[in-house]
Order: sequence, then C-alpha cells, then structure tokens
Amino acid sequence: MRRLFSYFLIIAVLFSVLLTGCNTSSSDSPVKPSDELVIDDHHSDDGRSVVGISMPSQSLERWNRDGLFLKNGFEQAGFEVLLSFGNDLIDAQIDGIEEMIEAGADLLIITPIDASSLVNVCKKAAMANVPIISYDRLILKTPYISYYVSFDNYAVGKLQGEYIRDRLQLDTTANTYNIEFVSGDPADNNATYFFNGAFDVLSPYIASGRLAVPSGQTDFYSTATSSWSKDIAQERFENILNSYYTSDRLLHAVCCSNDSTALGTCLAIDYDYTKGNNVIVTGQDADEPNLRLILDGKQDMTVFKALVNESIATLELAKSILNGKVPGEGLIAESSFDFSCRYDTSSYDNGQKAVPAYLLYPTVITKENIITELVDKGYYEIGEDGYLRAVQ
Ligand code: BGC
Repeated sequence: MRRLFSYFLIIAVLFSVLLTGCNTSSSDSPVKPSDELVIDDHHSDDGRSVVGISMPSQSLERWNRDGLFLKNGFEQAGFEVLLSFGNDLIDAQIDGIEEMIEAGADLLIITPIDASSLVNVCKKAAMANVPIISYDRLILKTPYISYYVSFDNYAVGKLQGEYIRDRLQLDTTANTYNIEFVSGDPADNNATYFFNGAFDVLSPYIASGRLAVPSGQTDFYSTATSSWSKDIAQERFENILNSYYTSDRLLHAVCCSNDSTALGTCLAIDYDYTKGNNVIVTGQDADEPNLRLILDGKQDMTVFKALVNESIATLELAKSILNGKVPGEGLIAESSFDFSCRYDTSSYDNGQKAVPAYLLYPTVITKENIITELVDKGYYEIGEDGYLRAVQ
C-alpha cells in the first residue's frame, strides 16, 4: 500500500509530495542499540532504499547546502530521499522524523536542533530497525545512534584561538589586549567543543594578564548565543560595547564561534564601536555574507568545512551500513576519500555510549587564501559583484 506522505517544510516543488513505501515498523521488534540493528529490507515501491534526512533549519545558510549535497549525493547513488527541515522547532523536527519512519525509511540522517530532545523518536526508529547517523551535531542521551559524522569540532575552536594568538603575537610580544567571546547554542553539543577548543588556546594568556576580558564573561554559558542567532549575538555585543567599551578602552579581538554570530558581532561593531582600530573577528562556515566581510576587511577569518565532503562520508557510511557491514576504521580506506578523515571511537560520548565518529578536518580561510582555497578548489565561484557564491 502506498500512502501520501506530507512534509512540514519542503524545499521547492521537488520535495512537495512524495509517495511512500509501506514497510513501517513492527511494534514487536526487539529494541537494541542501533549498532546491533538487523537491517530490514524496507525499500520504496520501486525497489530503491529510502533515506530520511532531517536538517535543523533553513534560517542558517549551511543546512540548506548540507540538505542539497546529501539529497543529490544519495539520489545519484540510487536512493529515494525524504528531506525535511525542522525550522528551528523541536516538535516539528520530531514529527518529521516520525513521518519518515512511518514512510518506511531504511536509514535516518539527523542533525538535531536540540541534542537531548530526540530520545523517544530515536527509540521509535530502533523499534523499526532503522539505523541513525547523527550528522554534524551529536544526538545525546540515547543508545540508538549508530555513527556520528562531523568535522573535528574541537579543532575548529582551536584554529580560531590560534588565529587570535598569532595575530596578536601573544607569544612574541609583551603587549596586552582586550578580547571578548561569542559562543554558540547551548542546545547544540558542538558549541561547547568550539568554545573549549578556542578557550584552551587563549586561557593561558588570560591567566597571565596578556589578554583581558573587560565584560568578565569568560565561560561558555555567559557567552552563549541561543539558536546561533545573528540578532541575539548582535544585541548581546551591543550591550557589551555600550557597557564596557565606552571609555577610551580598545577592543582588539572577538572570538566568535561561527559566522552567524560573527555577522551579528560585526554589525554591533559597525554601529557601536567608533575607535577605528581593527578588531580581529573569527568565524566558521564560510557563509557568503561573511566571505564578503572578509574581502571587505571587517571579519578576519572563518573556518571552512567542506560540506560536500561531509555528505560524501555520510553516503559511504550509509551504503556500508545498509550492506550489512560494520564500517569501522576500514570505511576510510575502502572508500578512498580524497579528503582527510579520522575514525574516533572515544571523543564523542553522548551520555549513553561513546558514539563511533568519522571526523573531517577544517581549513582556516583569510583574505590571503580565500581564492586559492575556496575558488580554485571549486567550492565557490566569483559572482558578477566580485563576491563569492557557493557552488552546489
Ligand atoms: C555547526 C556549525 C554551524 C552551527 C550553527 C553547528 O552545529 O557545526 O557549522 O555554524 O551549528 O548552524
């Protein structure tokens, strides 16, 4: 039997209505951690395997790209793809995942909006013998996650901290500088990794007095930005500037965890900081508006993560799981990825188990290497206005 499957949020006409397969879960299936799942032969009516992809939001640039890379990659590999976006609403994401399970998905790829809110729906997937790959962000508090594919999140933060350390020449000169931190969403497990990576590099200089943090906000929670919102980051940073930088005190650096928070911070600096010195601002994602800021000299760096490679690693992993293999370390060699990726079985404990992870490596982008790293390597092209556009 086929039944109409509707999404709560759909990309354009392509995803508007999908006819779905009938092999839903059998409620008497034994519940097992998902690395022990027996892979059912669900398949869509035309015999293709069905993959359900649940992305968190379309309001942040990268997830639109992730969704498209994954959809295109899986379709080209012969899968039927069910793609939905949670629109930053936890319940909408859960509903979408449930619909995918009911529609007969053979495998789920999920980036959680809130890492701890998917415990029940992951159990439902396990009951239906549907393995789950946690994509980019780790799903917490459930044993029913087979694998995690992401970038080395701690390394992202470390690159940001090292960039600020080197630009301020903290190891070679005796000057003192003022710095502030803008970190990510507490509901996103990645956010603390980014913050810790940067803070571990910079905290010795704070301890020695070479770096001062005039706001006094030096821990993850006091610097966090709910939903990674540009507007919330901007508002918080305007408050910081108007509270702690009204005298002749200079601001030298802002360690922003990603590009949406960097965008808000740069806007606040534009409006509320008139001292004219260059403020070093970090970021992550190579979002188009931020690449524009880098070319215009307002943001200094971003950490680029090649999403196309993250989607390729996920596709290879999914194929391996659905072929009944235990991918492990061997996946990287067998798939002969032309990008760096390491297999890590200990760094990502989700509170229920250490989830085996495939971690890719990020790249620092500055004004100096933006063309060689992003354009010459085919990730972006130069638009008519001279700024960069992502290639899909
Ligand atoms: C991702 C970042 C992204 C942030 C906000 C994180 O989980 O790893 O690339 O900037 O979410 O979307």
